[in-house]
Amino acid sequence: MNAERVEWGDDDALRRASLELLVRNARSGLVPDLLIAALCCAFYSVTGLAPGLWLWWLVLALARLAGQRVMRQRGDDARGALLATLAVGGLLWGLVPLLVAWLVGTDAAFAAFLLAAGIAIAAFGSYGIDARAALFATLPIAVAIVAVALAAGSLAGYAVAAAVPLLYAHQCVVAVQARRVLAAQIRRRVESEVLAAERSERAAKATAELDRRLETERMLRASRDRAERLSSTDALTGIANRRYFDKRLRAEVSRAFRARSPLSLVLADLDYFKQYNDLYGHPQGDECLRAFAGLLESYCRRGGDLAARVGGEEFALLLPETDYAAACHLAEQARAAFDAKGILHEGSQVKDNATASFGVASVTPDGLEAGEGLLAQADAALYRAKAQGRNRVAGAEGPDSRAAAAP
Ligand code: GH3
Ligand code: MG
Ligand code: MG
Repeated sequence: MNAERVEWGDDDALRRASLELLVRNARSGLVPDLLIAALCCAFYSVTGLAPGLWLWWLVLALARLAGQRVMRQRGDDARGALLATLAVGGLLWGLVPLLVAWLVGTDAAFAAFLLAAGIAIAAFGSYGIDARAALFATLPIAVAIVAVALAAGSLAGYAVAAAVPLLYAHQCVVAVQARRVLAAQIRRRVESEVLAAERSERAAKATAELDRRLETERMLRASRDRAERLSSTDALTGIANRRYFDKRLRAEVSRAFRARSPLSLVLADLDYFKQYNDLYGHPQGDECLRAFAGLLESYCRRGGDLAARVGGEEFALLLPETDYAAACHLAEQARAAFDAKGILHEGSQVKDNATASFGVASVTPDGLEAGEGLLAQADAALYRAKAQGRNRVAGAEGPDSRAAAAP
């Protein structure tokens, strides 16, 4: 716990709480104060001793009302207005015994004297928690009472002059005690507020730390994913590379074994591609490879399908849960679509646009032993497609018995 902070908070909170209390007391004391003052004036005017005292009452009423108004306007900043109001009230109440004593003599000032003493005692009750406020509101009255009592020159007057400071001192002690109790209460409240603030500060720090860690973890995961993606992707075409294809092929073969589901592999190779490069240049060749890769990828219609570049101008389509006939059909569609693109290839011996040859092989639940050599079978089929004149799809099973015919 930060002692300095509590001290400061304590003082500040005490100031605010005591100001609120004093302003409230000044407001609620207004009517009784003016009523007592009116009684005092009524007494002196009915007895005919000092009817002019009403003028004093008017000044008091105006001063008190103006004070209330300013305090209301100042709001939280009303301490100065409060002290001024109390000081003016104290002075006016101190003035009344002096005035009456001066106008009609000290004996006749008895009533004013009593009422002013009562007001002073009430003011101690209302403003005692603030030394300055209590002093401003009561000291002029006490001084005036002592002065009038001494001026009376009687024994009773001297007794009163001696009693007033005693009474005053007693009121001061009571006020100091009240202030101490209030301060202790406020200190406890401020301490618990500071504790709560520290607790929520700690919680906020912990949350920020957690957010930071989560962010670091997210960034690590993202860079790991990026590295993983880069190591699985072919830089030229953006589709999967050989490394990733091999991994997936192994996984899909074992999955097909386990699930006893068909798995097909289509291998494709661009026809007379060396001549294409020779004729149009390597960059144009790259462009053609990208076009073929994009086309193959568009035939990956199911979640598990994979298009990969497995060699310079060799590609693969891995098709889980796809039987031989469906794979041949898909390969034929891809072949025809690439042919239809009409990419000019005047060096080809097939026709004057770029074409590709396809080899298809499948493993089925009934012929699982074939799974081991799926890649070799597809490669053999591709070789056959080349040998039979290119721009065609050849199947792995027997000499073209199940291969889709080329146009
Ligand atoms: P075939 O019809 O029998 O397949 O003949 P081909 O010329 O296509 O086959 P070959 O194996 O003789 O030549 C493959 C060519 O592919 C050779 C090489 O220049 C080209 N190639 C391989 N990788 C790339 C590449 O990344 N970019 C480009 N532009 N060409 C490539
Ligand atoms: Mg080749
Ligand atoms: Mg080729």
